[in-house]
Amino acid sequence: MMDPELLEILACPACKTAVRQADEHIVCDACGRRFPIENDIPVMLLDRAVQEKPTDQ
Ligand SMILES: [Zn+2]
Repeated sequence: MMDPELLEILACPACKTAVRQADEHIVCDACGRRFPIENDIPVMLLDRAVQEKPTDQ
């Protein structure tokens, strides 16, 4: 279980939007990136992110 206070201070490194937890991932609703959580530590790295939906092109 992740510390809720930790989740509060997290922001997406791509768009600086606040993120939320969804199952085993941290999700940014603004840009659609998903970040893994490893050993209860969110990995907020762009090269580890998975983008679920395309942004404007
Ligand atoms: Zn984002």
